[in-house]
Amino acid sequence: MAAKRSARRQRRYTAAVNYCSACGKPVARKVPPGDDRERFVCGHCGVIHYQNPKVVAGCLPICGDRVLLCQRGIEPRKGYWTLPAGFLEAGETIAAGAERETREEALAQVSIIGLYTVFNVPHISQVHMFFRATLDSGQFGVGAESLDARLVAERDVPWDELAFPVVSRTLAHYFRDRGEGHFPVRVEDVPPLRQGKPAPG
Ligand SMILES: [Zn+2]
Repeated sequence: MAAKRSARRQRRYTAAVNYCSACGKPVARKVPPGDDRERFVCGHCGVIHYQNPKVVAGCLPICGDRVLLCQRGIEPRKGYWTLPAGFLEAGETIAAGAERETREEALAQVSIIGLYTVFNVPHISQVHMFFRATLDSGQFGVGAESLDARLVAERDVPWDELAFPVVSRTLAHYFRDRGEGHFPVRVEDVPPLRQGKPAPG
């Protein structure tokens, strides 16, 4: 029973693969020898197409008592506010990825202070990681994938217009932790949003 449930879960969380990326022939779902779950396996050359979670790396850029937010210029959640973050590139460290995304989305140079929040988002096979960082010069701009960028104080955070729960939680933790001067790394799980309801801010 447990194995069946687990197979269903995995099917839901993997993308369909039709053709082998190595030889172009059709693939089929099967459990490879020694494995415990279905994979897309090429019937011609035997290549197994593993699918593993993607990592999203981002920054919480801090400048005095304000933090830097970007307004998304692309879907999903276009027009909503977010922290600069994006998919890690191959060959990149998570800190370098977080810095790069901050340069791209907010034209801002930051110095990483340390890892702050880690979110498992298993229903979309992602792991999100945010670093606290200082905005070195206080200078920033609006990157190609953003509509706007602003330094905001706690009282000005647009809580109802934040793009994703991982952003809301990171900001909420930060303003609470700042009061105590202690910033422990937090690891949390993000459940799927309920259908038919707007995403919480
Ligand atoms: Zn093949």
